[in-house]
Amino acid sequence: MPELFIDGEWRDAASGETRTITCPADGTEVAVVSEGGARDALDAVAAARRAFDEGPWPHTPAPERAALLRAVADRLEAEKDEVARLESLDTGKRFYESQLDVDDIASVFRHFADLAAADAGRVVDTGMSHISSRIVHEPVGVCVLITPWNYPLLQTSWKVAPALAAGNTFVLKPSELTPHTAIWLMKTLDDLGLPKGAANLVLGAGAEVGPPMTESPDVDLVSFTGGLVSGKRVMVAAAETVKRVALELGGKNPNVIFADADLDAAIDNAVTAVFLDSGQVCSAGARLIVEEEIHDQVVAELVRRAKAIRLGGPFDDSAETGPLISAEHRAKVQAYVDQAVEEGATLLAGGGAPDDPELANGYYFEPTVLDGATTTMSAVQEESFGPVVTVETFSGATRDEAEDAAIAIANDTIYGLAGAVWSENAGRAERVASRLRHGTIWINDYHPYVPQAEWGGMKQSGIGRELGLAGLEEYRETKHIWHNTRPARADWFADEGSDA
Ligand code: NAD
Repeated sequence: MPELFIDGEWRDAASGETRTITCPADGTEVAVVSEGGARDALDAVAAARRAFDEGPWPHTPAPERAALLRAVADRLEAEKDEVARLESLDTGKRFYESQLDVDDIASVFRHFADLAAADAGRVVDTGMSHISSRIVHEPVGVCVLITPWNYPLLQTSWKVAPALAAGNTFVLKPSELTPHTAIWLMKTLDDLGLPKGAANLVLGAGAEVGPPMTESPDVDLVSFTGGLVSGKRVMVAAAETVKRVALELGGKNPNVIFADADLDAAIDNAVTAVFLDSGQVCSAGARLIVEEEIHDQVVAELVRRAKAIRLGGPFDDSAETGPLISAEHRAKVQAYVDQAVEEGATLLAGGGAPDDPELANGYYFEPTVLDGATTTMSAVQEESFGPVVTVETFSGATRDEAEDAAIAIANDTIYGLAGAVWSENAGRAERVASRLRHGTIWINDYHPYVPQAEWGGMKQSGIGRELGLAGLEEYRETKHIWHNTRPARADWFADEGSDA
């Protein structure tokens, strides 16, 4: 069956081209799928435009839109293992982690179902009884939704669920490396009766299918999750037609541990913060920033734990984390580690591909600890997106000096996505949290999120917010309707010739 979904039809790419998807855990072929191009992208935009301008979806009552989103959540729960299997084959991620992702995705669809009918706008009191003034929400229009490979269906759900909740039509462009759960979602939406053309799927390389859509005057909004370089290109492409742009980009996230923290919990979470999904998490705690007096204790334990992490494929029950997504990505991570060592960091654990013949066909990388890092190093400043933690140290003669020092290091980055502070002193933790310039701050925790809370970045980590209430607002226009129930002449300009 063809894999592009355009105007309610499953199609091959117009060019007839295909791409082979392989599992990063062992290099085996998962499937051969259609490789879309500019022609397909423009067809999909045209279909979404027609479905928005002429189709029923933007005018479907909000409770019906909510019901469709709930039905997607039900379907996810019913087909959880199959969806998780597709995700694990494409990403190499542990099956168990993919199952947890499916639970999350279902809760994202339920969250936006709850919001779809919740806010009908507001009435403005003009102080004039013959004027009714009200603020209404309307869908933005045609949305292009571009997603990455690390959490393929989860990142997609953060966009598709609010886009549909608000009554938009869309074209989805998942990462070319991980298309299968996006295909599953399109089949499900079609099966659940979403009108023709409201949801469209184009597969293919970002550089080929991205620009025709991000430049198109028929597109009203682009929501992009991915790396900084591609994000900037999307923003430039969208500028010509002043599209709405939402960007969820990378992060270089500080995890700050004060000496007065619960160290057992802090160190255990520091391990999860960076090594979860082999560091391929936008909010990975890749910069560990520790107070000097606990540095040796924290690093010794971190190194012991990193060396003990078991690598393996998605269906290996003993594995604790999986491979990197591709050979190219592993080479990039290796280059960051090598450069950090050249710049003076001390390699204490990992540092390259594992020496295990059973893992030789996958793109594995050992959990890596680099001590003695400083903010000038590229491994500290740039996102390696791999299982690599750099350790920086701070100190201060007084309470305030120690806090200032930690905050200065943690904020010394162009990114601002997420970070954490560990301290048993609640006042200190709150003070530091309030001064960290990152979109999510965990106090005495790392990584958890709920769909009810906003997610997004400050600085070059992005524009806009997903999830929460703001995650729906991205997909809504705000319109003011002024209704004069006692029409009268304005009489602003003299009307001397008139008989009236
Ligand atoms: P990427 O930027 O290479 O690709 C992301 C998506 O953009 C893909 O679908 C790709 O095909 C497409 N694309 C590439 N060039 C394009 C162009 N010129 N026009 C339109 N689309 C284009 O990123 P990736 O390697 O797939 O994902 C990893 C990155 O995603 C990391 O930097 C990570 O931090 C980021 N990320 C951020 C968040 C967040 O919430 N902020 C979440 C997950 C991942």
